[in-house]
Amino acid sequence: MKYKLPDKVTEVMDKIRNEGYEIYAVGGCVRNMILKIKTKDWDFTTNATPLQIVKIFPNSFYDNKFGTVGIPIKEKVKGKDQTAVFEITTFRSESGYSDNRHPDNIKWGNRLEEDLKRRDFTINAIAFDGKNLIDPYKGQIDLANKLIKAVGDPNERFKEDALRMMRAVRIASQLNFLIDEKTYKAISINSILLQKVSGERIRDELVKILSANYPADGIRMLKNFSILSIILPELEKCFGIEQKSPKRHHKYDVGTHLLLSLEKCPCANPIVRFATLLHDVGKAVTYKKTAEGVITFYNHEIFSASIVKNIANRLRFAKHDRDKLLCLVRYHQFTVNENQTDSALRRFIKNVGPENLQDILSLRTGDRLGGGARESSWRLELYKKRLIEVQKQPFRVQDLKVSGHDVMEIYGIGPGPYVGSVLNMLFSDVIEGKLKNVHKMLIQRIKDLKKESKSLWPKSPELH
Ligand code: ATP
Ligand code: MG
Repeated sequence: MKYKLPDKVTEVMDKIRNEGYEIYAVGGCVRNMILKIKTKDWDFTTNATPLQIVKIFPNSFYDNKFGTVGIPIKEKVKGKDQTAVFEITTFRSESGYSDNRHPDNIKWGNRLEEDLKRRDFTINAIAFDGKNLIDPYKGQIDLANKLIKAVGDPNERFKEDALRMMRAVRIASQLNFLIDEKTYKAISINSILLQKVSGERIRDELVKILSANYPADGIRMLKNFSILSIILPELEKCFGIEQKSPKRHHKYDVGTHLLLSLEKCPCANPIVRFATLLHDVGKAVTYKKTAEGVITFYNHEIFSASIVKNIANRLRFAKHDRDKLLCLVRYHQFTVNENQTDSALRRFIKNVGPENLQDILSLRTGDRLGGGARESSWRLELYKKRLIEVQKQPFRVQDLKVSGHDVMEIYGIGPGPYVGSVLNMLFSDVIEGKLKNVHKMLIQRIKDLKKESKSLWPKSPELH
């Protein structure tokens, strides 16, 4: 099989080769090339030192102790400008991982074989020089068999860097691969070592699992490999919390319901998916069973939100993502009832924020389907329509599509209480549905009001 690299990649590799160095594409991009999946960010390995690379590419940046040089590459994707990053790392051979996450000392290697040996999985340890694949660990066979297998002894490799266990699950859920038997047995034995890995690194892999095509399979794998109990103990606790009781519609225990909700969530955004996965975590701490055997979880959404806040802080989610997670979880229990007033709906929109409305409805769809209910109901559909309708109405006088300036201009008056009273009249008419919040119509109404007011208050001192 002949593989062809994109022109930009060949250009960069040729430039380095012309200076007399070795250069290979390696890792995810080669994996993708063999699987015919498109790659955005390319990784390379070379015998040139970072400073020698920087000399060849003056616009590159090198500021990291791992010796990686980044070259920003501008490209057009579907007509839009995008910047991809090509990362070039000098051959490395690492030794000593006393903290299970950072090599004690990184040694520059001078042989490709050494560099491939320290890579995590056989399918990630294939190099490509533009013509030939260098594949000492038979990664191509594992790619064909859809298998993730550690390079070397999996036990040692996971002891060196515990994050590799999550990377195995992440790549398996992205590619729909299985994990080789020896490798997964080693994961089950070593999962406890993930306790020492930083929140940021765990978050990055978790977000990739949540973004994959089958995120719930990834979370299931984490559970089966005893990783979930280390990274998300709050979720692990939910498995086995029963919900089935008289007067309750629930079929599944809380943990199973949460996994199924994630599986059915129709939104691709990993934050919305994470909120869907965690929305009921507070049930583990609010569980109560009455004398009649009825199970309740009063105020569980408030407890869920507080637990999710701890999780988001521990995993160092950015503030913006954390706020969205909290908001979706806190308000997921919203009531859908045809007798609710418009103001109740408006209060809900104000709490959730108009930008999160679609996402909280996606969470609700996951929640319903993951609880064995139908995707929607006439009540929910009516509610969605009303949410759209009430948003068309202004919430405050300031949201009217005209301002005090329009009133002053039409009436030919200066600022004063009369301006406010005209605006209030318009606002009431809009709220009551007598008038639409459309600039042209409001202007006409102000003109009509002026005519009416002239006949009503011909001697008004403010009016001409
Ligand atoms: P993608 O970029 O598609 O998310 P990837 O496999 O390229 O997947 P990166 O994090 O970009 O993942 O890493 C690039 C390569 O570096 C990997 O393919 C692997 O060879 C190596 N690598 C990354 N992290 C580790 C690790 N923790 N231990 C050993 N090798 C690693
Ligand atoms: Mg990569």
